[in-house]
Amino acid sequence: MLDTHLHLDDPKLADNAENIITDCEKAGIEFVINNSCDMSSMLASVALADRFKRVFATVGMHPHDSKSFDDAFVAKMTEFATHPKVVAVGEIGLDYFYDLSDRATQRDVFAAQIELADSYKLPLQLHIRDAYGDAWDILRAQRKYLNSGVLWHCYSGSAEFARQAAKEGHYFAFGGAITFKNAHKEEVIASVPINRVLSETDSPYLSPEPLRGRINTPLNIPIIVAKLANVYGVDVAAMETQIHNNALKLFPKIRAFLQ
Ligand SMILES: [Zn+2]
Repeated sequence: MLDTHLHLDDPKLADNAENIITDCEKAGIEFVINNSCDMSSMLASVALADRFKRVFATVGMHPHDSKSFDDAFVAKMTEFATHPKVVAVGEIGLDYFYDLSDRATQRDVFAAQIELADSYKLPLQLHIRDAYGDAWDILRAQRKYLNSGVLWHCYSGSAEFARQAAKEGHYFAFGGAITFKNAHKEEVIASVPINRVLSETDSPYLSPEPLRGRINTPLNIPIIVAKLANVYGVDVAAMETQIHNNALKLFPKIRAFLQ
């Protein structure tokens, strides 16, 4: 099992990162991908990937922090992009729910990072909230740069939108939110082809039921995989194999480390 999106450098987890990684190894969790949001989390993500065999990193600026996207950040992102354990650009996108950076800046920074990712043949990890229309327009406009894959992290859009993006070959990661009572996410999940689905926790956030409200860790990934297996009507082992294959297809740089 694996976790394509989490934040081990978050203050809620950072002091305990070593124990969490050790417990993950014992629990058979093969790898996790630590996502970056700003300069400090990008430095922390790469440091975690350097320190732990089963941790990989992304580089990028979260839409919340778009206003801090400057030359120094681009220089560091560019330097890290060729690191063997940096496997994606993320989490990037648009967040019109919190609007912590102005929307025009969010759009410009999102577009710029799509182009940057393509220079290094890295897939994208998207964070999109209340902005699916604009996100789609930017992805269309930047289409020539989408050569290495797109992952919608913590996918919260409609079934119809997922079908449209899946036709373009995009991937979708689901986490704790699919286990919440009254979430009714089955139709949305089922609209994603099984060869385009991934599992994530977004730790320390979004703990699945029955642990909702507690600090989340990648040790909860089996709860997500079980829910996905249930929706697709396959057994857990088959779901696990499918997710493993999907992840290695989207993040090919990981293959070299799994021998
Ligand atoms: Zn995240």
